[in-house]
Amino acid sequence: MTSRITHWINGKPWDGPAARTGDVYDPATGQVSGHVDFASQSEVDAAVAAAAAAFPAWRDASLAKRSNVLFKFRELLAARKSELAAIVTAEHGKVLDDAAGEVQRALEAVEFACGIPHLLKGGFSENVSTKVDVYSIQQPLGVVAVISPFNFPAMVPLWFIPNAIACGNTVVLKPSEKDPSASIFIAELLAEAGLPDGVLNVLHGDKVAVDGLLEHRAVKAVSFVGSTPIARYVYETGTRHGKRVQALGGAKNHMVVLPDADLDLAADAAVSAGFGSAGERCMAISVVVAVDPIGDELVEKIASRMAALHIGDGRRTGCEMGPLVTRAHRDRVESYVEAGVASGATLAVDGRGHPVDGAVEGFWLGPTLFDRVNTDMSIYTDEIFGPVLSVVRSPSYDEALELVNSNPYGNGTAIFTNDGGAARRFQNEVEVGMVGVNVPIPVPVGYYSFGGWKDSLFGDTHAYGTHGIHFFTRSKVVTNRWLDPSHGGVNLGFPRNV
Ligand code: NAD
Repeated sequence: MTSRITHWINGKPWDGPAARTGDVYDPATGQVSGHVDFASQSEVDAAVAAAAAAFPAWRDASLAKRSNVLFKFRELLAARKSELAAIVTAEHGKVLDDAAGEVQRALEAVEFACGIPHLLKGGFSENVSTKVDVYSIQQPLGVVAVISPFNFPAMVPLWFIPNAIACGNTVVLKPSEKDPSASIFIAELLAEAGLPDGVLNVLHGDKVAVDGLLEHRAVKAVSFVGSTPIARYVYETGTRHGKRVQALGGAKNHMVVLPDADLDLAADAAVSAGFGSAGERCMAISVVVAVDPIGDELVEKIASRMAALHIGDGRRTGCEMGPLVTRAHRDRVESYVEAGVASGATLAVDGRGHPVDGAVEGFWLGPTLFDRVNTDMSIYTDEIFGPVLSVVRSPSYDEALELVNSNPYGNGTAIFTNDGGAARRFQNEVEVGMVGVNVPIPVPVGYYSFGGWKDSLFGDTHAYGTHGIHFFTRSKVVTNRWLDPSHGGVNLGFPRNV
C-alpha cells in the first residue's frame, strides 16, 4: 500500500486532484513507498495566495506570540524527533542515528529563532539634532519561498523556516520531490504548536513549482539550497524578477593533512566525513590532500578503516552507512568509479564489492577510495555526491593551499595538524566559507551562520543565525521630532543635525 503525499496549503492537506505525480522510494529496498503530487501553476498560486492572506495578521502578531509558537514547536520537535528521523531514513536512506543528528541540528536553528524578541531590537539615538530622535526597525518582507534539496529533508527547511516566521514573514516551502514527507511532518507540528493557517505552506513538485515561485510577483525573497547549476539559475531568475535571493550550491571539500598531524585522528575523520550519509552531504570531505611524506601511511590507515564499515539498511542495528537516494543517482556515482579507473587514478578500495546488510534491490554502493588523483580527472573536478573519496598528493603546504584556493567551490574545508601557526595561517589564507581545524565537518552551530564562498553560494547572505535575521527583514530608519514651542520655523537648507 503506497501513500499519497500532497501539498499543505492554508493549514491543511490539499484536496484537489494532481495533474502530475512522482514516485517516492525506500532506497534500502528499492521499492516505491509513495506518490508525491507535483504542483502546477494553479497550486503555486493557491499556496502563495494563502501565504499572502496570512501575512497582515502574522506580521502584526506580537513578538511574544511568535516566540511562544516557536518554543512550543521546539518542545514538540524534541519530543518527537525519533519519528522525524524515521521518516528521513525511510525516504532518504541515511542511517537512523545520522537522521537523528540531522534533527538535532535542526533544533539548534529553532532554538536560535526562539530569541526573536531580542534579535529584532533596533537602535535608538536621542537628540541627533536638538529634540530630534532617530530609531531603526526591522520589518518582515512578506511571502518568502524556501526551496530545499534531498540530502537534509528536515534540517535544511528548518535552517530557514524558524527565522523567516519569527521575523513575521509567511512561507512557501518547496522541498525535494525525492523525500517529501519530512516537510509535511514539520508543517503539522508547527500547526499543533499554534502557527496560524497559511503562515507555512508546503508545495511539492519540480521545476514547474520552482519557476512558479521565482516568477510570482507576491514572492519577495527566495532561500535556495541545492546543486550549483540550479543555485545559479535560481539566483539569476529570482533577482531578475526583483526578489532578494540567497542560493547555496554544491561543494568539493578538501581536507589538508600536514605531516605533523595525528594520522589516526585524520584517518578517522576522513572516513567519517567522506562516507557519513553515503557522501551525500554538502559538507562531506571528497578530497584528502596528503602533504608529503605521509601519503602512503595515511592511505593505508583510511583503507583499513573502510574495510570495517557496516553498510546496510539504516533501520538495522549496527549499520553505519545506508544506500544512495535513488537508483539513477547510485548509477551516476558508480560511473565515477569507472571514470576514475579509466583516467589512471589508483583504485585503493573498490566499493562495488562491499558486503551489504540489506535487500538486494536497494540502491547500494560501498565506499571507494582513489589515490594519486590529478586535478584534471573528473573524479576531482566534479561534485560526485556519493561515497567516493579521492587522495591528492601534495609536496608542500603552499601547494596544498593553492589547490584548495583554485577550486571553483568554497563551501567547507579542514586542516589536520598539530602546528597552531600553520592552522592559523590556513584559516587566514584559505578562500572557503567554513573552516575546520582538526574538525572535518565544520557546520556552524545555530547561532553562527552557514555559507560557502565562490560557486558554493550566490548572494551575500549566509543561512540561519544572525545572517538569517538580516535576510528575512528589511530595515527602516525613523527620524522623529515632537514639536515644542521652540521649533525653528521654515528652513529650506539640508538638515545639518546640529
Ligand atoms: P538539486 O539542485 O537537484 O535540487 C534542489 C532543489 O531544486 C529541489 O527542490 C529540486 O526539486 C529543485 N530543482 C531541481 N532541478 C531544478 C530545475 N531544473 N529548475 C528548478 N528547480 C530545480 O539538488 P539535490 O540533488 O536535491 O541536492 C544535492 C545538492 O545540494 C548537492 O549539489 C549539494 O552539494 C547541495 N547542497 C548544498 C548545501 C549547501 O548548504 N551549500 C546543502 C545541502 C545540499
